[in-house]
Amino acid sequence: MHTDCIFCKIANKEIPTKFVYEDESVAAFKDLEPQAPIHVLVVSKKHIANLLDVAASDQGLLSHIMGEVIPKIAKELGVDEKGFRVVVNTKADGGQTVPHLHFHLLGGRSMTWPPG
Ligand code: AMP
Ligand code: ZN
Repeated sequence: MHTDCIFCKIANKEIPTKFVYEDESVAAFKDLEPQAPIHVLVVSKKHIANLLDVAASDQGLLSHIMGEVIPKIAKELGVDEKGFRVVVNTKADGGQTVPHLHFHLLGGRSMTWPPG
């Protein structure tokens, strides 16, 4: 855990936060500034800065998040029928403001394309 990382603090319960989902390696919580009726952030409890920082040993974790956790949350929050969007902003041009890998799960409205 990085002591100065806000998502490390949230995921490891140093900052009390209501989780939408939690297991031993992952936590998910509502975004502070929701951009859609459903806007959840899914993070690993382990600090990974961004997609470029994913190690070979993290592949199982990423597969778990993308293939299991996000679909499960989407179903629980009722956006599986109509659909949703998953966004991973990476570094400055990607719009990443918190340097701890996180997956935005956005739903509850129709999304536009291209993104801003
Ligand atoms: P990104 O711009 O992709 O790095 O996304 C960071 C997201 O974290 C933004 O959507 C923020 O609204 C959100 N955020 C920042 N601090 C918090 C917090 N303490 N709790 C929940 N969401 C947060
Ligand atoms: Zn972190």
